Amino acid sequence: MLTGRSPSPPSSDRVRPDVAVVGAGPIGLAIAWRCAARGLRVAVHDPAPGSGASAVAAGMLSPVAEAYFGERQLTGLLLASAARWPAFAAELTETTGVEIGYRTEGTLMVGLTGDDLAEARRLWAYQQGLGLPVTPLRPSELRDSEPALAPRVRGGALAPTDHQVDPRLLVPALRTAAQRAGAVLVPQPVRSLSDVDASVTVVAAGCGAAALTGLPVRPVKGQILRLRAPDGVAPGFRHVIRGYADGEHVYLVPRADGEVVLGATVEERSDTTVTAGAVQRLLRAGVDLLPELAEYDLVEAVAGLRPGTPDNAPILGPLPDRPDVLAATGHHRHGIVLTPITADLIADLVLGCVPDPLLAPFRADRFGGAAVAVSGGPEPTLEGDLWS
Ligand SMILES: Cc1cc2nc3c(=O)[nH]c(=O)nc-3n(C[C@H](O)[C@H](O)[C@H](O)COP(=O)(O)OP(=O)(O)OC[C@H]3O[C@@H](n4cnc5c(N)ncnc54)[C@H](O)[C@@H]3O)c2cc1C
Repeated sequence: MLTGRSPSPPSSDRVRPDVAVVGAGPIGLAIAWRCAARGLRVAVHDPAPGSGASAVAAGMLSPVAEAYFGERQLTGLLLASAARWPAFAAELTETTGVEIGYRTEGTLMVGLTGDDLAEARRLWAYQQGLGLPVTPLRPSELRDSEPALAPRVRGGALAPTDHQVDPRLLVPALRTAAQRAGAVLVPQPVRSLSDVDASVTVVAAGCGAAALTGLPVRPVKGQILRLRAPDGVAPGFRHVIRGYADGEHVYLVPRADGEVVLGATVEERSDTTVTAGAVQRLLRAGVDLLPELAEYDLVEAVAGLRPGTPDNAPILGPLPDRPDVLAATGHHRHGIVLTPITADLIADLVLGCVPDPLLAPFRADRFGGAAVAVSGGPEPTLEGDLWS
């Protein structure tokens, strides 16, 4: 579509941008960074950068633990993006000087009761069948890995390549990187694509993409808690822990500064209220798995809206009737892990490269007539009742 120039110095010039990115969440900012670094003039439109789903996200980079039945193509994209994370994190930190909380201890998947373990094992067997690194642990190995787990946790498995990052550090770092590369932030919403003046427009507006494009992106509410270990110490566990506890599915993400993220509900709703019932269920499941959490401070209870799609996979590429408008949205539960690959593949499209075959399953025209039925309600999915 476009050819790169020598990187231009940061400026607030009013020259028509080559690329207008709508949305300054992780996806839009990473695309802006990649495009600006390749010499394009980039404007990023957002009245509240970083205020979307990423503001509450846990930051798990979990292509293995989140390899669910019926989502093989999505799993392939998640794996490809996760493989880019180490270099992406290193480059971002080198460019900005900002640590983004990228951690590689891995993820433990556990079951509290016999029934929980049976459910977990079905998924692990599927994941192992795909050739993914899931290592079942004996109870003694599980306790050695994380002594803080409740003694009644029946069993677990290790996904060593599922890592984590802190989205609240990631997004400001991406903003800095994009601006240093020359991208200009325009602190206003885009009400209509016809208001945007650029050679190429990238719609990376999360849930806001539906109103702009008619694509079937719907909000999927997630309530999530943040706890803090007392006295400023680090949490008593190092792995991300994803657990089944009496039928509830929760995850616990430890941060070096003592924070623990405990999430999350998956609800077909578009409000962001926090409910007592959800807080109770999250806390009960979390404390059942890791009793020490009962002594932690509860510092935040919040809800965000994941940009969901009918098949739970992102929408990446030109709109059917607008080759100059590229969608980069619908990342649902996976927008953080999918940030590096989305940025690279969309920047390639902007620059007119041959589309990467990885993009084929995620085209914007795959929903056919459903593309405009954004208010028609969710498609039922196998994972619809999962907490993730
Ligand atoms: C509870 C919860 C937990 C999650 N945990 C994880 C996780 O562990 N791992 C993971 O990979 N993902 C996780 N996610 C999903 C992840 O947060 C999203 O997939 C990701 O944030 C999507 O990024 P985005 O940039 O597309 O959208 P968003 O982060 O939603 O950002 C969209 C941006 O677009 C802007 N915008 C919207 N409309 C307009 C407009 N018209 N004009 C201009 N700007 C506009 C908004 O202001 C916002 O800044 C979680 C989400 C939730 C809610």
